[in-house]
Formats: sequence, C-alpha cells, structure tokens
Amino acid sequence: MRIKDEVVNANTIGISGHIRPDGDCVGACMALYQYLCKVYPEKRVDVFLEQPSEVFSCICGIEQIRTDFKTDVEKYDAFIALDTVKERMGEAEKLFDKAVKTINIDHHISNSGCGDVNYVDAGSSSTSELVYDVLTEEELDVEIAKAIYIGIIHDTGVMRYSNTSPKTLQIAAKLISFGFDFSELIEKTFYEKTYVQNLLLGRALLESIQFMDGKCIVSGLVKRTLEFYHADSKDLEGIVSQLNQTAGVECTIFMYQTGIQEYKVSLRSKGKVDVAKIAMFFGGGGHVRAAGCTMNGTFHDVVNNLSLHIEKQMKEAGLL
Ligand code: 5GP
Ligand code: MN
Repeated sequence: MRIKDEVVNANTIGISGHIRPDGDCVGACMALYQYLCKVYPEKRVDVFLEQPSEVFSCICGIEQIRTDFKTDVEKYDAFIALDTVKERMGEAEKLFDKAVKTINIDHHISNSGCGDVNYVDAGSSSTSELVYDVLTEEELDVEIAKAIYIGIIHDTGVMRYSNTSPKTLQIAAKLISFGFDFSELIEKTFYEKTYVQNLLLGRALLESIQFMDGKCIVSGLVKRTLEFYHADSKDLEGIVSQLNQTAGVECTIFMYQTGIQEYKVSLRSKGKVDVAKIAMFFGGGGHVRAAGCTMNGTFHDVVNNLSLHIEKQMKEAGLL
C-alpha cells in the first residue's frame, strides 16, 4: 500500500487509533498525521486520540491531537484506523463508520481488517513499522522519523522482543540516520518512570503470586489503590512486562480494576502460551506474546477464568 494512492482524492482525512493509546499507536498516528499535512497542505487532516501520556510531548504536532471527538466536518472523505480494530476506537468509531472511505493499518493477529482497504500484517513489529512502509522515503523528515522510531521501540521493548525482524532494524537504521537523539528518546519515553509509577510497580511486584509450579504469575491493583496514588492506566505501563521477566514464568496476568466487578487485563507470555487466543476468547485481542481484554467478576473470578485456558495450553505444550 502507498497511502498517497489511497487518499489522493480525499479532501478531508481523519486519523485515529485505539483507546488508551500506547507508544506505537501515538507514534503511528503522529507520523502519518505529520506526513499527510506535509504532503497535502491543501487538505484538511485531523488526528483524534485520547490524551496521550506526557512522555510523548516530544513528538512534533502532538498538541494538534483532537481529544474532543466532535467534528465540524460532517463526514471525512477518508478515515484511517491505526493499530486497532474499529471496535476498540472508542469515540472515533463513529467518525470511522461515517467516512466515505475507510483504511485500516495494523499488526494485530486478532485483526482481520476492518476498512475498505486494509494493510494488516501480523508479522510486523509495530503499526509504526507499517506506516513507514506506506510512506515515500523522499518525503520523510527528522520529525516524522522520530515518531515512527518511538512507535517501534515501544512495541519491540527497545528492539528486544521476538517481533523485531532484520527489516525492523534496517528501518530503525534509516530513521536514526536523520540524526535525532535516539538515546534520549528511549530513556525519556520508555524507561523513565515517575515516582508514583515506580511505587505502583513496587506494589504490584510485592503483591504478585506465582502458581502452576511457578510458571504463571499474577498481580493486580484495585481501584482504591489507584485512587490513593491519583494514578490512571498510563501509570501502569511496563508493570506486566516486569512481572513476566520473573525466572521460570511462562505466562503473566496483570490486571487493574476499572469498575465494581470489572478489570482491564494484560497478558504476556514467553512464546509457548498463545495469549492472543485467550484474550480473543474473552472479547479482547493482541499478539501471541502480548494481549489484553476486559473481564467482569472479582479478582479471583478473573484469575480462575483465565487460569483454565492457560493451564490447558500449558498441558498441551508439555509444561505441566
Ligand atoms: P497491553 O497489555 O499492553 O494493554 O496490550 C497488549 C496488546 O494487546 C497490545 O497490542 C494491545 O493493542 C492489545 N490489547 C490489549 N487490550 C485489548 C483489548 O481489550 N482488545 C483488543 N482487541 N486488543 C487489546
Ligand atoms: Mn502496536
């Protein structure tokens, strides 16, 4: 796909990603937004997202993000959904549904393509990598390169996860040749945590429980803890991967309470358990090694329901 071929006849273009946008989602949306504004100054381009984490304020144009999800444009000529299926777009789903032409670019294995035109490749490290594919290299610049690079490092855990391919690294090499301070970007957007974020990480680690012979680990944070620290979902990123780094663990469950009997669940695996399959069973999605869903019930209900599926897969894989 060349994005220019897809939107050349559109006078108004909307872009959005998923609710609670992560680094890949923000990077991909902002890279494409900057690119389309640059290539087509005469077109109206709008980017809609829930307020991204403060760490992404280094991305050029981030203040242009529309969090109101209202639009004076009745109907976009083209609407691009990045890093998501339409059901996970929150308020932007309505704008997507109304658009004349819809385009979907994503790398989730659980997404079979929700646009009129789709560029979905589960083999890709990130949606940002796919955005790089659909742009023309001559029109890239340092600010677009930075946004794509942030997206790639976030979804690959700084080029560490198995979704990192030779192509991912070749693209990263081209991006850093634009000369931005990649080291600072990694430090400031990925590793650096606020004091409160570290306290919450500490609590989650301290209260974690290993079971299934130590092959599974679970931890969770209830609403009153989040309220005590004035924390939201943006303060919990990275906790699940830290838990999953525990030696001997094959599968990790981290959840935080979002309602009286409701939890947002993050799942991680070291590759032998397919957590996308489990998350999809409960109405969510993701990748083999990283997936998520929202579940109802008490903390223990959620653990029990997930454990049945994890145990089944572990037995099939000969781990139990
Ligand atoms: P995380 O655990 O970091 O929130 O998400 C891990 C992966 O699963 C990400 O690729 C994310 O997009 C996907 N994911 C998380 N929650 C959901 C969900 O509720 N629905 C879908 N379809 N995907 C999810
Ligand atoms: Mn992604």
